[in-house]
This record gives sequence, C-alpha cells and structure tokens, in this order.
Amino acid sequence: MRLAALTLLPVLAMAEWKAGVAKFNINPTESIWLAGYGNRTRPSERILQDIWVKALALQDSSGQVAVITTADLVGLDTRTVAEVSRRVQARHGIPRERLLFNYSHNHSCPVTGDVLKLYYTLTPDQSAAVARYTTRLYDHYEQAIGQAIANLAPAQLTFDQGLAGIAVNRRRARPGGRSLPGPVDHDVPVLAARSPEGGLKAVLFGYSCHATALSGSTINGDYPGFAQEELERRHPGSVALFLMGCGGDANPLPRIMQNDGPEAVDLARMYGKILATAAQHALDGKAKTIAGPLVTSHGTAEIPFQKAPTREELIANQKKFTGARLRYNNYLIEVLDRDGKLPASYPYPVQVWRFGDSLTLIGLTGEPVVDYCLRFKRQYGSDTTWVAGYNNELLSYIPSLRVLKEGGYEGTEGIPEYGLPAPYAWPVEETIAQKVEELLSRKP
Ligand SMILES: [Zn+2]
Repeated sequence: MRLAALTLLPVLAMAEWKAGVAKFNINPTESIWLAGYGNRTRPSERILQDIWVKALALQDSSGQVAVITTADLVGLDTRTVAEVSRRVQARHGIPRERLLFNYSHNHSCPVTGDVLKLYYTLTPDQSAAVARYTTRLYDHYEQAIGQAIANLAPAQLTFDQGLAGIAVNRRRARPGGRSLPGPVDHDVPVLAARSPEGGLKAVLFGYSCHATALSGSTINGDYPGFAQEELERRHPGSVALFLMGCGGDANPLPRIMQNDGPEAVDLARMYGKILATAAQHALDGKAKTIAGPLVTSHGTAEIPFQKAPTREELIANQKKFTGARLRYNNYLIEVLDRDGKLPASYPYPVQVWRFGDSLTLIGLTGEPVVDYCLRFKRQYGSDTTWVAGYNNELLSYIPSLRVLKEGGYEGTEGIPEYGLPAPYAWPVEETIAQKVEELLSRKP
C-alpha cells in the first residue's frame, strides 16, 4: 500500500497542470489603415510578416481554467474585451478574472474598434474596413481561446528570466530630455509549458519596450513578432507568445523613422533575435517549477483626473485650435453633451494572478511606464514577480508620480490623443499600487 502510494507521486506531480495553446492568423484581407502613428498618409500595402492572436490555457489541479491571450495589435478597446469575455464566459464558463488580454502594442497592425480613434481621420470606406476587421477579430479571439482550451493536456510549468538590452528610456531621447532620469527594465520573464515527455508546447515571454522599430505601410509584428517567429523556428511545434511589460516610456533604439525598408526591417529582426536569444537562455537554464494552485483576481482602481476644462473653455478653444487638438476639444464637448459632465476618474482594471508561491503575475491596463514594473518587483520579489502592462483597453499612458511630476509626453502631453478629459492626478501610482496590494492580500 505504502509502495503503491510512492510510485504514484511522480505522476501526481506531473498532473498538477494542464496547458493548451493555439494561435489564429489575423492578417487583414484588404488594405486597411494602420494603427499607432497619427502621421501616416496611406493605408497598408502588403503583408511583411503574419500577425496573430494567441491563447495559452492553463488548468490547475482544481480543474479551473485561466487563459492568457496575446496579440500582435497596438491595443484593444473596452468593447472588444467585453465582447470576447462575454462569449468565453457563455461558451466555456470562464469568468472575466481568469482571462488576460495582453497586446504587444505593435504599431504595424490594422486599426481596430475605437482604439486611439482621435488619432486618425478615416474616410467612410476606411472606417467600414476597420469595422469589418474588428468584427472578425472577435471571432478570431474566440477561436484561438476555444482551441487552446480544447488542446489542454498534462504539462509542467517552469519560470525563469533572461536579460536583453534593447529597451532605452525614450524620454531621454526626446528633445530637451537629456537631463531626465532614464530607468529601464531589461528582464525577460519566461514561462515554459512542457509536455510530460519534455517537449516544449508553449513559451510565454515578456519585455518592457514599445513595438516601434518599424513605421511604414506593411503589416508585421515588429520586434516582438520577429522574436516569436524565431522561438517557434527554434522549437518546431511550439507556440511562442509575447507578453508586453511596462514599456510606456521605452523604445527600441536606435530606430529608423518613417520606414519599413530593408535596413529598418533588419534592425527589427535583430532586436527580435536578441529577445528570442534572451528567452532561449532562460529556457536552457535551471528554471524553477511552478506550483499551483492558480488564484486569480480582478479589481478596479478609481484613478482621479486633474481638473477638466469647462464647457466655456472648450467653446473658446474652438477658435484657437486646429487639427488633432481641435478634434480632441470637440470630442470633449460631445462627451459633455452626451453625459452632462466629463468624468472625474477612470475605472482602471487591475489583475493579480498567483501561481502558488512560485510566481505572481500582475496585469495592468493601458501603457504603464517602467516605474510600475520596477516598483512591484522591488516590493514583491524580483525573482517571483512578473508585471505585464498593456492589458485590457488601451486607455492611455499610465505615468508614475515621478513621470507625472516631470511632465512631457507620457505624463501630460500624450493625454489628448486618448480623449481623456485631463491628465491623471498625482495619486495615480498609489491608487494602482493600493489595488494591487489589496488583490494580493485577498484570501483565495
Ligand atoms: Zn504607446
């Protein structure tokens, strides 16, 4: 009896997790406006590299399933996240808190939904193409998630981190920014899912840096796309998924602007290869086994805005502004007409997933600057904490208190592009940190 129990142990240990992975091609089937830069003058011309929605389903010994999705997209809007979540809940019974919607912030993908809508002036035909693409995207998410769940099979999960020096704090690189501090996060967190026989099924790897090495008129996945392609080439049959970190104030530098010619593509491919090599080092090392259970939580931090302009100020501005500033100004008047007031705060989604004592995954929304990654790793343990930004809706940059005080693009100047009524107020960082702390201290 005793002997029988002992021989069962390795099998039970291996059976703690099931993992399933899938990917779905999201190349546009027609020419479409490209996302992320406001100064493009023409729609997409060709596909340089396939783009994907990918899903990694994880099931712990309790039988509950959680799914991490990644995408070669600049961002998602609230409606897409809500619609896909609704479908997944209805079809698979998976609640919202067990779904993570991450995107690489790729600037060479189609415009989708309402993401950065004030950035572009689309013709009715171009808007119709975006609407068609977005509707298909809902289905593609559903298909990728459904397939990942269908593929669930026994797996071993491990975690380790590599290092890659691609990210540069871009606030220093902006005009007048030389004197600013330039923190970066060069960690490459890597979660591997292997079959009981040891074959790599999925590699989920992260990095904190804008996907902005390329900026032309081709569809591609930028450096994260090249990194994923490289890892999948090295491990045939596996799926590599890129999880964006807190890259709000980081760019891959140098880069060749307004370009996706051969020299710029070579550079993006090289950044991808560096990142893939860093992830490979983590795969080759003595990674720690991840134990369950997986405890997930989802909460909302109410982030206050600074004082919004009054209707009188907005009406007076109509005579002063042109172009994008006027579009923003008139959009705020539309919101005032519709809602009777401008919002005083933003209900900011925060997710915390705890994998036993082995790993804590903190999922933030929008574009957090690097300080959030550095702070939470310092606070909760740099070897066991993974901070992913760029989840849920792409609401705006999320400055830290430091960046807010410094001002500049990621602090205050970038806010109008996102249609928010005013920059965030100084409690932004502490409000988010308190929500993370609250979710972390919740009893399972
Ligand atoms: Zn950005």
